[in-house]
Formats: sequence, structure tokens, C-alpha cells
Amino acid sequence: MLTGPHNLGSHLRDIRARIEQAAVQAGRDPAGVTLVAVSKTQPAESVREAATLGVTEFAENYVREAADKIEVLRDLPLNWHFIGAIQANKTRAIAGHFAWVHSVDRLSVARRLSEQRPFHAPALNLCIQVALVPEPHKSGAPLADLTELADAIGALPRLKLRGLMCLPPATPEIGAQRAVFARLRQLLEGLNARGLALDTLSMGMSGDFEAAIAEGATHVRIGTALFGLRQQP
Ligand SMILES: *Cc1c(COP(=O)(O)O)cnc(C)c1O
Repeated sequence: MLTGPHNLGSHLRDIRARIEQAAVQAGRDPAGVTLVAVSKTQPAESVREAATLGVTEFAENYVREAADKIEVLRDLPLNWHFIGAIQANKTRAIAGHFAWVHSVDRLSVARRLSEQRPFHAPALNLCIQVALVPEPHKSGAPLADLTELADAIGALPRLKLRGLMCLPPATPEIGAQRAVFARLRQLLEGLNARGLALDTLSMGMSGDFEAAIAEGATHVRIGTALFGLRQQP
């Protein structure tokens, strides 16, 4: 069943209330948690409606689909986040269209984004996606590479390394959700202790964002809980 955009307002109210409650419960300022609306497979009109309700951050996984939507919605002051797997031949389009990239997992991609970021644009905000739970055929930098990768990316021009992202396998058990998110927070703290100044933990989706907020998420990426079920791309 498709949940139409007519439910967007009530979904958004519900999500904002849950974000606020999770933050307060964790002793955090709710303003420290940014809702990133994942609009992949959703039509531009749904993005426009969410924007009229005050959402400014939108995330996409597929470059071509995103480029079309971004073009159609140029009149709106939106920030676009790329969260999908990155093929080397798509880095130019990503560097040209997005304000943030959450899913960088290797230095070669970061180098290309750095070289291809348009000179008139501000630095591209970037997170390293970490493979906390190794799964075959999944993106994410191996834990063993993280420190070296962060140091190398931090030194590239035209990019601003902001923090870490994870995409753990879904589990309904809140203790298990929190354990993975706590690990990402500890990794960020470890990098900062070495002298980096990272301020972003991109973690938590529709099924686990409250656990992520409890563990320090600054950006929650929420798709289905906001827009309803997706059509398969
Ligand atoms: C699709 C996607 C999301 C949103 O997932 P929902 O469960 O629909 O909230 C978040 N992050 C990434 C990387 C995604 O690909």
C-alpha cells in the first residue's frame, strides 16, 4: 500500500515529536538533531510539500534521479545529501549537485570529489561510511582503515570532513541498535582525540532513529516513516 503525500503533515509532526522526545530523554538539545528526509523514489511534489512544512534537508541515493529532482526544485532553498553507494563515474555529478555526501568509503572517491567540486561552490561536507558490521557486498570503510582514511580525507581541499555514517542491518531490538550506534560514536570520539574536529554522526533511519539519538546521532536519515513505502527503483 502506498501512503500518499496527504499524510506527510501528520507523519512529519509525529517524527518531530519522537525526535524531540528521544533527545530530551538522552539529556540532549533537540536542536542538535537534524532531520534528513530521504526522498529517493519519491516524486518532486512530495519534496516540495515537505519543504513547505519546513524540511530543508533531503537525501537521495541515485544520482540521475536526484539530479532531475534537484533541477525541478531549484527555486527552493534546500540542502541535498547524497547517501547512496558511489561509483567512480558518478563523482562529478555528485560533486556538482550536493551539499553533503554521507557515503564515502574509500580515498579514491574522496580525491575525485575534491578535484571535481566546482570552484564557485562551498566545500563539500563529507562523512565516512563505516562498515561496523561486516556484510558481504555492502558499502563502508573497514574499521581497520578508518584512521588512515580520515587523516587522508581531512587533508584534501574543497572537502570538509564532518564525521561518520553507518547503515547497520535492521534489528528490532533496541539494545542491539544502541550497541552499534555507540560504537560509531566511540570511533568519532577516537578520531577527535587524535586531533580531528568532527561534529557529525549520521546514524538512524525509520526503524531505529530513537536508539541512534540516544547514542548521539546529529543527523537521522528518515524515508519511509515520513513519505510512506517506496516503490522499488
Ligand atoms: C533508504 C535509506 C535511508 C532511509 O531508510 P528508511 O528506513 O526508509 O527510513 C537511510 N539511509 C540510507 C543510506 C538509505 O539508503
